[in-house]
Amino acid sequence: MTIPDAAPNPFRQFNPAQAPAPGEPPVFTFLLVKLASRCNINCTYCYWFRDAEVYKKPAVLTFDAEKAFCEKLEEHIKEFGLDYFMIVFHGGEPLLFPKRRFAELQERLIEIEERTGCMIERGVCTNGILIDEEWTALFIKYEISVSVSIDGPADINDQYRVDFKGRGTHADVLLGIEKLRAAGLEPGIISVCNPATDPARILAYIVDELGVTRFDILPPDATHEDNPPPIADYFIRLFDAWYDTYAARGVRISTLDAMIQGLMGDAAFSDTIGLGPVETVTLMSDGTLEPLDVLRIVGDASTKTDVSVMNDGLQGVQKDFRWRAAYEASLNLCQTCRDCEYMDACGGGQLAQRWSAERKFDNPSVYCDSWKRILGHIWARISPTLVVEYGGNSPAPAPQG
Ligand code: SF4
Repeated sequence: MTIPDAAPNPFRQFNPAQAPAPGEPPVFTFLLVKLASRCNINCTYCYWFRDAEVYKKPAVLTFDAEKAFCEKLEEHIKEFGLDYFMIVFHGGEPLLFPKRRFAELQERLIEIEERTGCMIERGVCTNGILIDEEWTALFIKYEISVSVSIDGPADINDQYRVDFKGRGTHADVLLGIEKLRAAGLEPGIISVCNPATDPARILAYIVDELGVTRFDILPPDATHEDNPPPIADYFIRLFDAWYDTYAARGVRISTLDAMIQGLMGDAAFSDTIGLGPVETVTLMSDGTLEPLDVLRIVGDASTKTDVSVMNDGLQGVQKDFRWRAAYEASLNLCQTCRDCEYMDACGGGQLAQRWSAERKFDNPSVYCDSWKRILGHIWARISPTLVVEYGGNSPAPAPQG
């Protein structure tokens, strides 16, 4: 089988070709910008509001923080001679940010591009509910890619993705997707799996009903303190449904791509799984810089730093012990993972999923048993189809696993 280039993933954090040498601090080329620290809905599994610190932040990015951020971004690009930078606008719900200010921010970023020659790629991750014709016009004018979160058909999506009165949001999300398409925009789709549901139904819904062929399905955020249900059966059935039916139709699921690439010996790194450093830096609405935002799941103030674009450059967050702890933990796997035959493909799983109160990040993923079953199953299915071209007439080496 042949796996061509991975499905586009606007939230990919690590480009192996740009990996720093060991011990060398990474130069940031990716930033999560929290345009809003509040949300218009109340998904029950959301990691963001598990950390009460978020309520101490301004509801939307302040004027002062925005101004300082643009200045520091330009200095950063010039200092390191960057020709590419990626920003993902995030929340809470980023579309709670005023449209006029959103347009002004894009104009500032374009001016930075013109002054520096650096391409600043931009995307937004939204629940889709606030999308209207004015937002779609802004996305088109400023060439902003859009990812929408939806977990499947209404009965599945609305189990967890609810508003503040507990009502399902599915119908409103669909309206948002329709408005994007009416404007000629094709959104990316991000789903969180519910292991109790049928993944074949999710695939049929996303591909056959929504008409989306490139998307991602993520395991629920959880740490060792949460004791989440296993995800092995779900992802094994997801893989089988994709492999047997949808792969030939050009359907690509980023998490499956990453696992296959890792099993085949390529660098595998996605938001879900894979081996590589976590270099994400997050701009909060008050201008502070924090580590990977999903680490909030660990607990109160778990990502809080005193580093701010008001005083520091973007690289300044690297002096904060929390950012360093996350970065170094992503490079230093626990002994169990280092001894694991799936280390290259799994990489210990997503960083937050390695957390326990007792051993911090020094654990395998809370989904370790599941990842082993899933990766073993995928390898058993794809390995008979592999043709290994090996130099000369020598026999091919034995496969992994
Ligand atoms: S499968 Fe488990 S032990 Fe192996 S790398 Fe992943 S988390 Fe670590």
